[in-house]
Amino acid sequence: MTYLFSVDIEGVSGVVSIKQTDMESKEYETSRELMTKEVNAAVAGAFDGGAGSVHVTDGHGNMRNLSIEELDERVEIFLGYPRLQSMMEGLSKETTAVGYIGYHGSAHSLGTLAHTYSGRVVDKVHVGDKMAGEFALNSYLAGEYEVPVFFISGDQEAVREAKELYPEIPHVISKYATGRYSARCMHPKAVRDEIKAVVRKAVEEGKGKVIRPEDDVIHAWFTDSGKLDNLELLPSVERTGPKEFVIDTGNYETNYKVFRACTMLATTVSQ
Ligand SMILES: [Zn+2]
Repeated sequence: MTYLFSVDIEGVSGVVSIKQTDMESKEYETSRELMTKEVNAAVAGAFDGGAGSVHVTDGHGNMRNLSIEELDERVEIFLGYPRLQSMMEGLSKETTAVGYIGYHGSAHSLGTLAHTYSGRVVDKVHVGDKMAGEFALNSYLAGEYEVPVFFISGDQEAVREAKELYPEIPHVISKYATGRYSARCMHPKAVRDEIKAVVRKAVEEGKGKVIRPEDDVIHAWFTDSGKLDNLELLPSVERTGPKEFVIDTGNYETNYKVFRACTMLATTVSQ
């Protein structure tokens, strides 16, 4: 009974600006504290609901944001970057279910700080013919391991996108985006109370759904053509336009890994 929480920062209540998510900024310490407290609320809810163990995977930026000393002592935490499963590090066939905390909308949503994996590199991603944000990309990976998804917290756009794939998903809306860099935020304490209660109930009731794509081909668009000039070094990548490419290996997990390799290759472009 191991529950895994994948945690991002842009969907945490109180976080509305890129500066708040940047380690070099003065405002960052407050954001990581807010992030850590939302995680603790979810962890407490999971244990109260009957979880035997809880793993937490830090999924923002360099993936070492959570204040480990402040985290609930009962968790194991995956920290650091790079790593093969990225925001889903720790996922295995033994995982009971996956929950998401602090998630945000996809790059083409009207969410606060919306993006898909890399705001600088990725314009949008489709899996099959459906738009996929981080919730979808990560949930399809969990689906490869037959692991159900059981919870999401984040802004209303993150939750709306999650509901497209799992209409009954237990969720908490941490804030309502009023712009790309603004939101009507619920008080962090109220958000934490709600996260704890919703997670507890979801675990008690064994909620969750295995989410799989109808078609596992990844079709992606990057922000400029220069970022694609190296991608065909990878044999499974086919460039289909100046800014778009397709990955079709016949297996979603491999497509997902190749997509992430593409975003890393794209970040090496400099002129
Ligand atoms: Zn993110």
